[in-house]
Amino acid sequence: MIYRRSSALFAEAQRYIPGGVNSPVRAFKAVGGNPVFVKEAKGAYLYDEDGNRLIDYIASWGPLILGHAYAPVIDAVIEKAKKGTSFGMPTEIETQLAKLAVSMVPNIDKIRFVNSGTEACMSAVRLARGFTGKDKIIKFAGCYHGHSDSFLIQAGSGAVTFGSPNSPGVTQGTAKDTLLAVYNNLESVKALATANKGEIAAIIIEPVAGNMGCIIPEENFIKGLRDLCDQEDILLIFDEVMTGFRLAKGGAQEVLGVDADIVTFGKVIGGGLPVGAFAAREGIMGHLAPDGPVYQAGTLSGNPLAMSAGLAMLTELNNNPEVFRSLADKTKYLGKGMAQVLTDNHIPFQMNRFGSMISIHFTEEPVVDFESSAKGNNAAFKKYFHGMLNQGIYLPPSAFESYFLNDALSYKDLDETIAALANIAKDLH
Ligand SMILES: *Cc1c(COP(=O)(O)O)cnc(C)c1O
Repeated sequence: MIYRRSSALFAEAQRYIPGGVNSPVRAFKAVGGNPVFVKEAKGAYLYDEDGNRLIDYIASWGPLILGHAYAPVIDAVIEKAKKGTSFGMPTEIETQLAKLAVSMVPNIDKIRFVNSGTEACMSAVRLARGFTGKDKIIKFAGCYHGHSDSFLIQAGSGAVTFGSPNSPGVTQGTAKDTLLAVYNNLESVKALATANKGEIAAIIIEPVAGNMGCIIPEENFIKGLRDLCDQEDILLIFDEVMTGFRLAKGGAQEVLGVDADIVTFGKVIGGGLPVGAFAAREGIMGHLAPDGPVYQAGTLSGNPLAMSAGLAMLTELNNNPEVFRSLADKTKYLGKGMAQVLTDNHIPFQMNRFGSMISIHFTEEPVVDFESSAKGNNAAFKKYFHGMLNQGIYLPPSAFESYFLNDALSYKDLDETIAALANIAKDLH
């Protein structure tokens, strides 16, 4: 496939936008080459500026769980736009979406809408700190909670006390309040809780991780976190920006059978428009302004266009919960087909799959945390990524991302994807 016009557009974009993109992973730095500029999309397909048709496995990084330009969502947005795009005053549709979300998700009474997953996680941590009167948080290496300062902390080797900033611009003062634990390693969390007794406001986690590839929580890991939080008066925050309204109506809380104290949302809840949200029981949400002292606000929060997209999306999912099974079945089918091809070609790989999240890692070792995920063979991944792209299959341009299937994908699309892998598998050694 030829990507001539995309390349020209990228060159022009780089003159005016840092790196030519408004979010770094779009720039293909991890895989090399130039990004594809998309013109439009419908269902499971992207149509790029060169006229290529691509089968899409990122779905805008998750939101478009029912496929691109899904008619009920598009119609809702168009109708809403005709009546004005923003008021800075309350609107009924905010309550409609809040009511529906609260009815679908276990263990929450109230929800506050923001504009991104980043804002949701940042606000959830502030709320946890305000509620508990404690400063420190525990996060897990390899989990992504958006780009606010407290979360941009990487593990130094053996770091169990103070985090060190891994992005310039994050101060030591901020970094020292973020403690790093190892995913799927309850002991690493307990050690931090013991060393920082009485100082930890919250543990924040992706209950099924999707930002170091897909990582499945081991049996009893999440339950162990719940018990630890109960014993130590720590709030458990589930970052369900990726898993929420994707794994099930009630997200990971429902699927794993574990209650979180605060849950954050993004991606699917906005149906493709900028929406994030955080939610909890009344006892915690009551601490938020204007009811309580913890401040949080937004000029465009609860924006009517964004709410109308979210409401249309969640209404579809609420009325057709079979879609979660359908998606999981398709993901399983794809995974099985791809695994067979790789096995037949003697390519070492790990495949992690949970519901409609899936990732392939070119490594012999099980991928259970950031360290094992980072051991994947990136040279093989690059060949795989570009080999698939050349055949019109658009995968996430980084080995650290889960694929997001959308329900517009047909079994024919999946077969085409498996066949594309078969064409290039022998080159992946
Ligand atoms: C995408 C993501 C975020 C950040 O959401 P944005 O809308 O990009 O700010 C936070 N947490 C998780 C788990 C995510 O996948």
